[in-house]
Amino acid sequence: PPIIVWFREDLRLSDNPALHAAVRQERPIVCLYIHMNGENAGRPLGGASQWWLDKSLKAFSRDIEQLGGQLTVQAGDGSACLDRVIDETGADTVYWNRRYAAAERDADAEIKAHLKDRGIDAESFNARLLVEPWVLKTGSGGFYKVFTPFWKALRACYEAPAALPRPKSLTGPAPETLRIDDLGLHPEKPDWSTGFDAIWSPGETGALNRLNAFLDGPVEAYPEERDHPGKEDGTSGLSPHLRFGEIGPAQIWRTVTSAMEAGRISEDGGWKFLSEIVWREFSYVLLYYRPDLAEANYNSDFDHMPWRTDEPALKAWQTGQTGYPIVDAGMRQLWETGWMHNRVRMIVASFLTKHLLLNWQNGEAWFWDTLVDADPASNPASWQWTAGSGADAAPYFRVFNPITQGQKFDADGAYVRRWCPEIAGLPDKHLHSPWTADEQTLSRAGITLGEDYPCPLVDHKSARERALEAYETLKSQR
Ligand code: FAD
Repeated sequence: PPIIVWFREDLRLSDNPALHAAVRQERPIVCLYIHMNGENAGRPLGGASQWWLDKSLKAFSRDIEQLGGQLTVQAGDGSACLDRVIDETGADTVYWNRRYAAAERDADAEIKAHLKDRGIDAESFNARLLVEPWVLKTGSGGFYKVFTPFWKALRACYEAPAALPRPKSLTGPAPETLRIDDLGLHPEKPDWSTGFDAIWSPGETGALNRLNAFLDGPVEAYPEERDHPGKEDGTSGLSPHLRFGEIGPAQIWRTVTSAMEAGRISEDGGWKFLSEIVWREFSYVLLYYRPDLAEANYNSDFDHMPWRTDEPALKAWQTGQTGYPIVDAGMRQLWETGWMHNRVRMIVASFLTKHLLLNWQNGEAWFWDTLVDADPASNPASWQWTAGSGADAAPYFRVFNPITQGQKFDADGAYVRRWCPEIAGLPDKHLHSPWTADEQTLSRAGITLGEDYPCPLVDHKSARERALEAYETLKSQR
């Protein structure tokens, strides 16, 4: 009888443990994707992630067809869809790769029990992480809450398993299937995604091309350049590919370490890059042990934080109209491309939670909807880190100054000029603080502040003091 390989966040043919285990059995294979909805479907994907998933599924389906197979697409309740495909094909086994968010784990456990009841063999594998969240423990037996010791522990023990080859052919029954377009993932009315196509190539080939292009040069300057948002290839751009499992971290680890061993890339660049990959792993540890990471403060002291409610300010932040150029550039890059540079993510998150004193959950939700790499672990973990409410959080009194951050990390203004073209004519000296320019300078640059570009939404100094006072109130709650 055939084996069903149920693909979820692992849309790749190479180095895919569940697929590989099925191929080794030399039986017919049914490649299945279920667009789950209903109670146990987990957090619904945001708009930008749906855009990515649409293209990723199409690329994956083409790759499977080239090997003689079919990607069978179903939508609905997980157990019901599996039942239908089992009944139609006579399959007696289902393999999949594990997920780690709470709702998904619960759904998988339920489905596994349901399949066992039916006498169907179900087995799961790890395709998504170097080390699963329950493996590494601190000396006292708990999970790691601080990144650096986690990174050291992982680096000391981890060795990438041997690469799993891409199957040479994939044949089996072709049950009834939906068309990917039937899932309605591509945005319509309006289609806001036109800026995405120019940048991204969702799918396994796109992912491998990105990794190779990054290792062919940019990795060398990565330790310094990764903080400069104006540098186009300063970072790898692999995050959405990792999000949808078009490439796995073990593949990256293996490729990077062997390139270092062969002297093809430097140790400095290679290890720095791998340490960032491990930040992702660390976020998954936090998510696993704190399944409510996106809904609740990791540090419950923050339940008393006097957050403000201010819809117009939230809207100005979302639309890149705060009057702080580095913040506005980031928010516009996010809207146009579905991605934002890491340094700027930190700046805009600090601005929302500290300068505007709005709950980090507002920002987490906006990012969830607009990022192509919106990740159930990295997004809430990073938001909580910036807000100060997370494990291993930035000290609460570190309020990023959006002016000096801009001057330091976008010194030549390439990033701000690209995303805020209306102020491109300002000299570097005033680019990150247009309100400091005199009338003559503004008029030479063709700008009327408050008309062509907003006046600052808040004054940096007083907003900073307000944030520090709010954070002080937490101490008195202890
Ligand atoms: P590179 O610098 O090339 O890094 C390689 C890979 O390492 C990334 O693709 C990513 O998988 C991982 N990585 C790098 N930095 C981090 C980090 N700080 N935390 C976790 N993983 C990291 N990343 C997401 O993948 N999804 C998110 O939803 C997400 N939300 C974020 C929200 C905020 C407020 C902040 C400050 C950061 C967030 N990040 C998120 C982390 C980081 O900004 C992105 O992973 C990174 O910008 C992706 O670009 P890249 O692939 O070019 O990164």
